[in-house]
Amino acid sequence: MSRKIAVSLIMLLCLQFSSGQTAQTEISDNLANTWQNQVNETRMLQIVKFMSSDEFGGRRTGTDGDRLSQSLLDTALDNFGLKKLTNRTDYRQIVPSFADGESANILGSLRSSNLYDSINETIILSANADHIGMISPTQIYNGANDNASGVSVTLEVAMILSEVSKIYPFKKNIIFAFWAAEERGRLGSQHFLKTGLLSEQNLSLELVINLDQVGYDRGDGILKVSGGLDVPELYASGLTAAANEIGISRPNLYSTGRNSDHQTFLDNNTPAYTLIWESNGPNYHTVNDTWEKIDPNLLGITAELILELLINQYDLVDTTIFLSAAIETSNSSSSSAGRIVSRLGVTITLSLMVYRMFFLRHRREQ
Ligand SMILES: [Zn+2]
Repeated sequence: MSRKIAVSLIMLLCLQFSSGQTAQTEISDNLANTWQNQVNETRMLQIVKFMSSDEFGGRRTGTDGDRLSQSLLDTALDNFGLKKLTNRTDYRQIVPSFADGESANILGSLRSSNLYDSINETIILSANADHIGMISPTQIYNGANDNASGVSVTLEVAMILSEVSKIYPFKKNIIFAFWAAEERGRLGSQHFLKTGLLSEQNLSLELVINLDQVGYDRGDGILKVSGGLDVPELYASGLTAAANEIGISRPNLYSTGRNSDHQTFLDNNTPAYTLIWESNGPNYHTVNDTWEKIDPNLLGITAELILELLINQYDLVDTTIFLSAAIETSNSSSSSAGRIVSRLGVTITLSLMVYRMFFLRHRREQ
C-alpha cells in the first residue's frame, strides 16, 4: 500500500510541476487517491469487536443477538445514505419463519447513472451476519472471524463507495448485502434469490463477491478464493490484477465446496466467489473465535483489494467524469481529499454513537 501511495504522490508532484496544470487535474489527482487513503483498520476492528461481544450472544438466527445485529446494520446503511431495495421503511428483507424463527437480510445499494448502457448491471458485495450462538450462558461462540470480519469490511467498502458516489458517476449498480442464516444452510441468500427482487427492479446480476472469514490467515499471506475456478476468466484475472496492484500474493483460486453464500448464486448460474483468508482453522466454530485474534492489517488489505477490484478492474465507477456538484464544492475547498476525510470521520462517529445507543437500549431491555 505504502509503495502505491508513494508512487501516486510522486505522480501528483510531477503533474503539479509540469506546465498546463488545471484546477480540474488537481482535483482529479486528489480524488483518485482518496478512496485508497480512506480505508481505516481501527474502524473495522471496532466493528468486529462490537459485533463479537457477548451482548450479541453469538448472533444465532432468530435470537435477540441476531436482531441487534440487524439493527446495527440497518442504522449503518441509513447513515451511509444507501438506497433501499424493498418498499419497507428500513433496509430489512424479512426471511420468513423456519425452525429458528424469523430473520432478515439487510440490503442497501448505490445506483448507476443513466449516462451508461450498463445501467442495469449489478454487482453484489456481501457477507453473512449470523453465527452459531451459544452452548450455555457462559460459553458463547462470538464469531469474530466468522463472520464479523466480513461484515466489517463490507461496511467499510459501503461507506467509502457512498462517498465516492458523490464525486464520480457509477456505471453499474452495487448492492451491499448482509445475509441472514448462512449457518442454518444459506437460507438468507436463497430467500433473496427466490423473491425475484432483482428482476422486479430490472436489475441484472453480473457478479457476487462474498466475504467470509477475512480477519486472519494461516501465516501464509495467501488469499483463498472459493468458487474462483468457477467464475469467468474476466473476474479471475481481475482478482489477480487487483492483488498485484496492492502488492499481495497471487490469490489461490480453487473450486468451491458448499462453504458460503456464493454457492447459492453459483447454483443459479451467476458468477460468484467468496474471499477467505482462513477457513476451518483451529478456532473455527469454537468459543476461541474472538476479536483479539483479528489482524486489522488483513481487514485493511481486504478492503483495499475490493475497492481496487470494483473501481479499477470491474468497471463500477467512471473516474473520468466528475459529478458537477462535486466539482463546485471541490473548487471552493483547498483540499477536497481533506474535506472527505473529515466527512468520513463525522459519519463513522455518528454511526458508532448510534450503535452504542442500540447497545445500551438492548441492555436496558434485558
Ligand atoms: Zn461458520
